[in-house]
Amino acid sequence: MKTCKAGGCSTQTNGFSSYCERHKRTKARHGHPQQTGVKKSDLKQYLKEIESYLKTVSASNANDIIDDIWSRTVAKAKAHIDGTTRGVSFNVHELQAAQAIVSLSWEADSKTICCLLMAMGFWYEYDQRRWKYDEGFRFQTVRMLLRLNPREAAYKWSVNGLTRSVYREIPPRTIRALWSIIEETKLVLYGMEIARRKARALAIARQKASAERDAILGPEQTGGEA
Ligand SMILES: [Zn+2]
Repeated sequence: MKTCKAGGCSTQTNGFSSYCERHKRTKARHGHPQQTGVKKSDLKQYLKEIESYLKTVSASNANDIIDDIWSRTVAKAKAHIDGTTRGVSFNVHELQAAQAIVSLSWEADSKTICCLLMAMGFWYEYDQRRWKYDEGFRFQTVRMLLRLNPREAAYKWSVNGLTRSVYREIPPRTIRALWSIIEETKLVLYGMEIARRKARALAIARQKASAERDAILGPEQTGGEA
């Protein structure tokens, strides 16, 4: 018997596992034994940041570029699926990831999808304490993306002949395959950079305000007996 490896957990583990049952399940679902799930409503403020940035700072053709990025991603996923039907050897998790992308493309428009990915990047950069675990962030990003697809709840994930209809139980390898598709779009990175730029602009504005204040007020007078 060993103690669970997750920090703060004193549960004994079964057999050779490094984690207790609960933390093992959390790791499979959320990418890290200590990652907690996030809600759609938590993302709202970051979506607003991205939408306003696109409207006020991005070039006028940014929306077309976003469309292109997503069409390319879907085209690649379709080609992947076609390849497997022609008998090209395939990896079941990569195939599931490609199917999820194509399914999502029927249910949500490119702007919604791409803004969500950028908002996740913004959130990652803005609230680093929330995202202590990179793998946890990746898993949550994939889950957020899949949640845009109402069919996803009923999507059947079939692995080794075992069909699971519960969307919570997407195989971790499929989540990782979906993350590599997401990563290739670079949209999460763009969201992170938007957050960094915003933080820099705020720091400059604050510096300017305090320089003005210092100039007007001058040095502090020494009072009393001086
Ligand atoms: Zn544990």
